[in-house]
This record gives sequence, C-alpha cells and structure tokens, in this order.
Amino acid sequence: MATNPSLVVRLVSASVAISNRAGSIIREIMKAGDLGVVHKDKDKTDPQTEADRKAQRCIVASLAKRFPGVTVIGEEDLSQDDSLIEMKDSEEVLKVKCPDDLKDVKPGEVCIWVDPVDGTTEYTQGFLDHVTVLIGVAVNGKAVGGVIHQPYYNYQAGPGAPMGRTMWGIVGVGCFGCENKDSLGGKRVITTTRSHGTEAVQETIDAMQPDEVLRVGGAGHKVLLLLEGRASAYIFASPGCKKWDTCAPQALLNSMGGKLTDVHGNLYEYHKEVKHRNMGGVIAAARNHEFYVSRVPQSIKDQLPAA
Ligand code: AMP
Ligand code: MG
Ligand code: MG
Repeated sequence: MATNPSLVVRLVSASVAISNRAGSIIREIMKAGDLGVVHKDKDKTDPQTEADRKAQRCIVASLAKRFPGVTVIGEEDLSQDDSLIEMKDSEEVLKVKCPDDLKDVKPGEVCIWVDPVDGTTEYTQGFLDHVTVLIGVAVNGKAVGGVIHQPYYNYQAGPGAPMGRTMWGIVGVGCFGCENKDSLGGKRVITTTRSHGTEAVQETIDAMQPDEVLRVGGAGHKVLLLLEGRASAYIFASPGCKKWDTCAPQALLNSMGGKLTDVHGNLYEYHKEVKHRNMGGVIAAARNHEFYVSRVPQSIKDQLPAA
C-alpha cells in the first residue's frame, strides 16, 4: 500500500467496497421477494424500490461517515440513516499511484454522484444483468474516478461462478475489473434505451447506420458494453439521464481513453450546483467518439441544449 493514499484514491477504494455491499443488499431484497415499488412520476416510467432506498442509505451514510466535508448527491430523496455503514477498502485500489494532478485534492473540491440502482425498471422486470450500482467521483466539476458494480454478473452462469463484479477507474491510472474482448468484428453496434425511447433517439440511431442495435436498460450497463467491446457506441438523444447516471460511466470511459458527452460533443460537469438532468443527451464511445457526434442530425442538435 502507498504510505499515504490520496483522497481520490481512498474515495475510489471505499466506493469499491461500499458498492459491493450495496450489491448484496440489492440481491437480498430481490430474494426476499417484496420490492416495495413506488412511482416517482405520474406516468409510472420512473419506479423506486426498497433496493434503491436501502442501497442509497448504505452508500450515502458510508461515504458521509468516512469522508466528512465531501458532498454526496444520491438519486433518491431520503432521510439520512446510519444503520448500514461499510468501512472496508479495496487493497487493489489503495496500491495505485495517484496521478500528480489529483494528489492534493481537498474534500471541499469533491462531489460524489450516487445511483444506488441504475436500471430499476429492468430490476423489477427480471432483466437482472442490466442492473448496476454507480458511484462517480468528481473534482472541481470533472468526473475523475468511479465505480460500476454489477450485482448480478454471472447470475445465470451456474453454481460456483462468483456473483457480481466491480469495475473501477481513475483518470490517469486506468480502468480495471473487466476485459475488453472486442467481439464487434468490425461491426457498428449501437446500444440504447429499451424503456425510454423517443422519435429523436431513433432518428439519431438511424443516422449512425448501425449494423446492429442493442436495446438494454441502464446507463451503467450500456457503458459496460462499451468497456467490454460488445458495443461501439451508446446513443441517447433525449434529456432523460441525470448526473448520477453518467458521472461514474464518464469517469471509467475516460480512464480507458473513451468519452461520454452530450450530442454536441461537450463533456458534462459534475459540481454540486449543476442541474441534475443531462439536457443534451448522451453520446458515449470507447473509441471514435467524434464520428458519432458528427453523425447526430443538425435538427436533433437544435432540439437539445449544450451541456
Ligand atoms: P435507460 O437507458 O432508459 O435505462 O436510462 C438510463 C438512465 O436514465 C436510467 O437511470 C433511467 O432511469 C434514466 N432515464 C432515461 N430516460 C428517462 C426518462 N425519460 N425518465 C426518467 N428516467 C430516465
Ligand atoms: Mg439511473
Ligand atoms: Mg437509479
């Protein structure tokens, strides 16, 4: 272990352990069978379950206890509950050398964006591998590190296969926990929403002339497909995603040389006063990001404000 891990390294190390704990909570609630669904909007397109509530309580309380002075913003609007605090670390993360530009970060410069269950709709419908836990670390508004935990990785792999996995990254260090197998074979595979589609989303995908379109749940899950080389780009020309959906994915993609931006090619910012909605949509890719931005029709760009 480095003698004095920096704040950013300690935050990502803690986030790995905390997201693992949140993943167990999510699995336990599904196993117990009562999801406790409530709807956050009148159209019932934005459900919240007991897993969202309990996982967020665990993540926010653990980060607040361990990192006083750091701002933590979670998706769910909940009272503080200190009954589920995770104090473990990831020894693997603690070993890394912090990049010089992140060595002296102070707590007041940090804002952490938490999506306790990304892909809640899919969780309630049994598409369990679409579910992720997202913890994104931003410094002075820039997404610099984070964790994507997939609680149901291997859930169909049979007995003995380890359940769940955690990908983590720090910009300037790298992205760890999944292998880029590049199974695309030269094809252009676009991944997009399966439950929040609009005409503009479809028109933008059509303009990319894809060989294949994968409609799956969750921003975290779609970015995982990019990290693993199973999709070429994540395209969503609509304002539905929020900062907690994109902070960790943006940091992980960036840490392996990829990019997540709005449809104009602008990076999103993540300081604590920023608007929660990503009004400019999402264009993300592990490589050739500029190509996808260049293919967004001008009429769509005109509808969506820049980040
Ligand atoms: P999706 O790709 O549809 O699974 O969405 C990725 C993330 O953005 C999830 O956390 C969704 O809840 C959120 N999201 C996207 N579009 C909308 C929308 N129209 N209303 C509410 N949440 C949305
Ligand atoms: Mg989400
Ligand atoms: Mg969520």
